Amino acid sequence: MRRKLIAGNWKMNGLKADAVALAKAVFEKFDSVANCPFDVLVCPPMNVLGYVADVPHTSVFVGAQDVAETTKPNGAFTGDVSAAMVKDLGATWTLVGHSERRTYHNETDAVVRQKTENAINNGLTVVICIGETLEEREAGKALEVVTRQVRESTPAIANATNCVLAYEPVWAIGTGKVPTTADVAEMHAAIRAEVAKNLGAEVAEGMRILYGGSVKPENAKELLGVENVDGALIGGASLKVESFWAIAETQL
Ligand code: PEP
Repeated sequence: MRRKLIAGNWKMNGLKADAVALAKAVFEKFDSVANCPFDVLVCPPMNVLGYVADVPHTSVFVGAQDVAETTKPNGAFTGDVSAAMVKDLGATWTLVGHSERRTYHNETDAVVRQKTENAINNGLTVVICIGETLEEREAGKALEVVTRQVRESTPAIANATNCVLAYEPVWAIGTGKVPTTADVAEMHAAIRAEVAKNLGAEVAEGMRILYGGSVKPENAKELLGVENVDGALIGGASLKVESFWAIAETQL
């Protein structure tokens, strides 16, 4: 039985005071749930990652939104933050390959795979993001694109404990549009089948596959009820404790 994961991606939002206040509110809310049946993760931007990780908490994981591609823990890589540095800040997870990184920073599957490997080798658990663009979906290529991303972005060392996949159709991120539940079910089944081909049936059975893209309190129960959907990656609605909680509450 896969334990669901409710993950918040704060993106490039949060000056110190706001981020710490949001973290306190989120931690207080989730830490008060006895025997919570799902995992919770928040991924603040790098400027506040250490501050957020330092806010006392017991049941919420803290993650980065990215790690450097280089395997080196430090060195002449201006602007980069290594997986070792993320770990040192107190984070235990990281996102990798978010579509905004793939689009604005030209991150290829090979880059995403290397970053994932670096993160895992430094003891971080990774959420690898994948998803097709609108043009790719309209051209009937969604399944082909996403299964290629799964195959090529996931390193051989990935397993059900150190890695989670997040299917995020690019056209659904921040737009208020969501795929039909039938499309989500088809894609998640295809992703799990691709993981089975690459990493074996046992890993595929245990690996969590999140859905992301305009998840809101109003649609969370339906999307999270789709077969093979093991949680949600939430952008906009994770920036307010009320909406983040309202999404998570559908799983209690
Ligand atoms: C995201 O950034 O990963 C995301 C899913 O954003 P939103 O929930 O705002 O669509």
